[in-house]
Amino acid sequence: MSEGGAELTLQGVGVSPGVATGPAFLLTRRDLRFVERQLDPEEIPREIVRFEEALIATRSQLREIQRKVERALDRESAGIFDAHLLVVDDRAVVEEVLRGVQSRRVNVEVVLQEVAERYADALAQMDDDYLRERAADVRDVARRVLLNLAGQPVSELGGVAEPCVVVAGDLSPSDTATMPRDRVLGFATDLGSPTSHTAIMARALEIPAVVGLHDASLRISTGDRVLVDGHTGRVIVRPSPATLERYGALARARETARARLEGLRDQPARTLDGYEVVVAANIELPQDVDAVLRHGAQGVGLFRSEFLYLSRPHMPDEMEQARAYEEVARRLAPAPVIIRTLDLGGDKFASSVKMPQEVNPYLGWRAIRFCLARPEIFRVQLRAILRASVHRNVRIMYPMISNVDEVERAAAHLAQVRAELEAEGVPFDPDIEAGIMVEVPSAALIAPQLARRVAFFSIGTNDLIQYTLAVDRVNEQVTYLYEPTHPAILRLLRQTIEAARGAGIWTGLCGEMGAQPALAPLLIGLGVDELSVSPNMVPLVKAVIRSVRLSECERLASEALRCENAAEVLAMCRRLTEARAPHIVTLLG
Ligand code: PEP
Ligand code: MG
Repeated sequence: MSEGGAELTLQGVGVSPGVATGPAFLLTRRDLRFVERQLDPEEIPREIVRFEEALIATRSQLREIQRKVERALDRESAGIFDAHLLVVDDRAVVEEVLRGVQSRRVNVEVVLQEVAERYADALAQMDDDYLRERAADVRDVARRVLLNLAGQPVSELGGVAEPCVVVAGDLSPSDTATMPRDRVLGFATDLGSPTSHTAIMARALEIPAVVGLHDASLRISTGDRVLVDGHTGRVIVRPSPATLERYGALARARETARARLEGLRDQPARTLDGYEVVVAANIELPQDVDAVLRHGAQGVGLFRSEFLYLSRPHMPDEMEQARAYEEVARRLAPAPVIIRTLDLGGDKFASSVKMPQEVNPYLGWRAIRFCLARPEIFRVQLRAILRASVHRNVRIMYPMISNVDEVERAAAHLAQVRAELEAEGVPFDPDIEAGIMVEVPSAALIAPQLARRVAFFSIGTNDLIQYTLAVDRVNEQVTYLYEPTHPAILRLLRQTIEAARGAGIWTGLCGEMGAQPALAPLLIGLGVDELSVSPNMVPLVKAVIRSVRLSECERLASEALRCENAAEVLAMCRRLTEARAPHIVTLLG
């Protein structure tokens, strides 16, 4: 329901950059209700034909979606729809529906709805994550078949006639994939996170998007004018002329500033006094390499390999993984590519991997803990990474290390896998380096012991902040406590970097903290050698670095270490960036 005519600002999470303005199109899930109709015996064959035709139509629509996704993204993402196709072809379901129509002599819609609900409910009760997720597939497919039986448009988004901003409770990957790109200007959803499929697809399709708005779909009505700012995560409902004017001016300034940054693509991230750091990119899937190249990142500082495992019924095998890693390595060579081994658990679950439900998944069976307990999975991945290392630019990184023992056990697996490949005559880079993520406070505190055993550190501030400050990184209630510039975090960063320097190894930082351009001078002053950020943030971070001197960054860092609270540090960082790189502040809006 709309709330009068006043301007309203909603804050969510920007997951795909850009600004879109237009009338809202509220995507509501229509409740499908069918009246039970008794059939004469001679009507039954016709009813069965109707059902078979609806199944055929559904199958071909799903194939078409799959083709679109494959064209827009890749084969793995399109694989999400394999599970849907399996439901259409599930003879047990189809035959039960046919039997129901024949024995009860009622219209097929009624029987299908009951059978699908029963199957979905049974699946939803299962222990197995993979089977539980299939409940949603059964419901989704049944809905499609029912809409086809009713002769109604299957994709509500397909009915979008004019350019609009789609507002929804949530969007499924099939909604996003079938969006008419020329008519969907942007989207805003109540649910979702930056790592949801929908967000990944929005970025790939370059549609500005904001998720995690809680109740936007209740506050916005179809036809309301809305502005979606994918940079800041703001959605402005019924923007006033003054707001539109401000955004118009901002958009023009952003365009000019972005155009200036284009020129930085081949420039180093070097301070005014000649100190050079590396600005690399974080990627989730091989096709993200396009953006890495477009934005001039100096390699990949974090390849979140677990995304290859998500949303698919089977785990990728050694050769499939090797192909994915090799493609990234080849396209970026000689720039380095750091492949992080599987970081499942926490908020990332793969349907193909059975994991128990945990009360505290972030403190549970996650990342390296899972891999060391499941060596048959871990070693396949290590073999694949080694196979992809032939271009000599691949590095391995272990996530969530919390003690020395884990590093040693991971290294032992790597040594055994190397020996296997050598014996099999499979080529790989003999000098491949292995490093660790420092994202658990215990790792930062024993950094000198860990530094002796690895080739590099990469600080994962997303988790380091959550574990150090005891703030769940995905819980909106405690977001106000999630402070990257908290003095405790600065101390942990400092001592991690000092330990690395003492052992002669380098330190990167690949959490979101590094993607805040205003914090780049502080991080460089603290001694970080590499910042790895999402590809579209690379030019901004580089530009800030190129506008400051190392000497002032070091001064900033030592003053920051004397501060007693996070806000003070943040204000100091902002003052310096505003003074040295005002064009970047414009871009951040
Ligand atoms: C981190 O924790 O900072 C990190 C980069 O890893 P992820 O966000 O994938 O947990
Ligand atoms: Mg992490």
